[in-house]
Amino acid sequence: MAEHYWDPELDTLPWDQVLEWQRARLPEFVEGLRERSIFHAGQLAGVSTDRLGESWGSIPFVEKAQLRELQQSGDGPLLGAAQGVPDAELVQVLASSGTTGSPTFFGLTERDRRNWEFSIANMFFTAGVRQSSVVALAVAMPLVAGGLPYGDAIRRIGATLAWVGGQTPARMAQMIKRLKVDTMVSTASFATFFAERSAEVLGHPASELSLRTMIGGGEPGLAQPEIRNRVAQEWGADRVSETMGLGDVMSGLWGECAEAGGMHYTGARNVLVELIDPDDGRPVAWEPGAMGEAVYTTFTREATPVVRFRSRDHLRIEATCCPCGRTSPRVRCVGRTDDMLIYKAMNVFPSAIRDVVLDDYAALLPGPMRIRKERVDQVRFDRPIPLEIELDVRGADAETVKRGIEDAVRQKLRVQVAVEFGAPGTIPLAEYKNSLVYVKEA
Ligand SMILES: [Zn+2]
Repeated sequence: MAEHYWDPELDTLPWDQVLEWQRARLPEFVEGLRERSIFHAGQLAGVSTDRLGESWGSIPFVEKAQLRELQQSGDGPLLGAAQGVPDAELVQVLASSGTTGSPTFFGLTERDRRNWEFSIANMFFTAGVRQSSVVALAVAMPLVAGGLPYGDAIRRIGATLAWVGGQTPARMAQMIKRLKVDTMVSTASFATFFAERSAEVLGHPASELSLRTMIGGGEPGLAQPEIRNRVAQEWGADRVSETMGLGDVMSGLWGECAEAGGMHYTGARNVLVELIDPDDGRPVAWEPGAMGEAVYTTFTREATPVVRFRSRDHLRIEATCCPCGRTSPRVRCVGRTDDMLIYKAMNVFPSAIRDVVLDDYAALLPGPMRIRKERVDQVRFDRPIPLEIELDVRGADAETVKRGIEDAVRQKLRVQVAVEFGAPGTIPLAEYKNSLVYVKEA
């Protein structure tokens, strides 16, 4: 069993029993947390731990904005009123990369650090890392959630960690070659950017290196078959695994097995996951095809615990069983609440628009595409959403392709886009994450 699963007990226990196993740990966690943190004493006021199952759904959700505000006041514990231990027990502080202004910080005690190491190791093990692997970690900063905790988890498996992130692409490419790296952990955008740079530096395609497993997270792109195939081809990889986590909860929570049909839940031993309807907060059942927002409770966490934390990640359940024998549902992240756009009265994720375009036209589109906003805070569009796409015009009638894309998006998503073509190379490739949305310079 140990060869196949990182955590054989929970990885193969029927999913409803995993949830039961987790719920059994909640009363003690809730009781203790009320004593340890002023903020949680408020959030959990009036909750009866005798009948926690019944009252769980009435515990208010917590949002990232609340936690950020608590920290910004600067009063009380180092990491704000939601901190659950005295400052001296913190062994590490991590920062969210954060898209809006100042970062949020979270902390780990030594026990938290070991729990993270175990569960994030499960994510990487599920995604294909083994003791024999030589793993290049392309993340540049130890302080971010995908930094030191990822390095720790890769070493926990016993794999050889080659932390190449933070070097110039040229040096990284040379190190990957010299160290015979077979696995890389990065974002999908970086994998593509870096494949091109490596080829330039080494004088041969990146596919001639020894990389065979590409592991990527941090953006939903790798779920798209076209992007997945492109990454696999550029690197000559025979396995591309998607992973997902979030710093406020645990930086590795989901990992994709060799079946390549969605991510398994790998955080079960430390974090409870619920699926809710983002509009009314009601629970959504774990059934194939269901969609919902993930809500997390970190029931072993000491330093900066969260109870019913709204992730704003919208998941779609691809399957509730898997030939690999893991019993957790398999999911894809379809988008984040923060990315949602509104065309007239319809909600749409930029990634959904991209997926429709790539489904039919990938062969004609050599580069990235992007949606143009007038202002940073623009969410609503009353006119068709401007979509800039690079088109390889050879052999293609631009007007026909434009109309085809616009029709496909309207039929499948019930929103309208206005396609604008540019020549290959006109949309800049980001080094870290390619954003699907950009703001037009005034
Ligand atoms: Zn599986």
